[in-house]
Amino acid sequence: SPEAALVDGLIEAIPDFPEPGIVFRDLTPVFADGPALKALATAVTAPFEGRFDSIGGLEARGFLIAGAASIVSGAGVLSVRKAGKLPRAVLSQEYTLEYGTAALEVHVDQLPKGSRVLIVDDVLATGGTALAAVNLIERAGWHVAGFGAALELDGLGGRAKLEARGVETFSLLCY
Ligand code: IMP
Repeated sequence: SPEAALVDGLIEAIPDFPEPGIVFRDLTPVFADGPALKALATAVTAPFEGRFDSIGGLEARGFLIAGAASIVSGAGVLSVRKAGKLPRAVLSQEYTLEYGTAALEVHVDQLPKGSRVLIVDDVLATGGTALAAVNLIERAGWHVAGFGAALELDGLGGRAKLEARGVETFSLLCY
């Protein structure tokens, strides 16, 4: 699609970041380009149109997509934050990283029970982050409408993990 080509042309591959052997896909040029950001926000919400009440943005790059997706879809943003950032009562979901653990948090009462949340992030790799967000949202009493990313790194198992959990998954690009 023209949207995919526009976004694809702006993603940069940075070798050996954050450590040797890793090729980091940098989406900051996409975020810095108005039409590309709008095309991305439109593409990740379109498959789920009419089936979500809120957009769950994953800190930090997911926030940028979620904010833009909010304007194109009319739904607000659920802030899914790293541990220790939210000021009121939170639910916390730990997940494993290559070295150690991290946690995502939401305000427990941020949305009415049963709200349908579309989760968005920039990159889907192993799916560990996305799955933590799914668990968190379900524990909060909300429903996961789906997961949308700009880019999916094929062969790392992210999509399989989400689909095994019953989460409809969309990515604009797949490398
Ligand atoms: P996962 O948990 O292994 O699926 O990794 C996905 C998370 O790590 C997302 O929050 C991404 O923002 C981040 N991530 C992993 N690889 C990349 C990359 O190449 N570029 C940008 N972000 C990445």
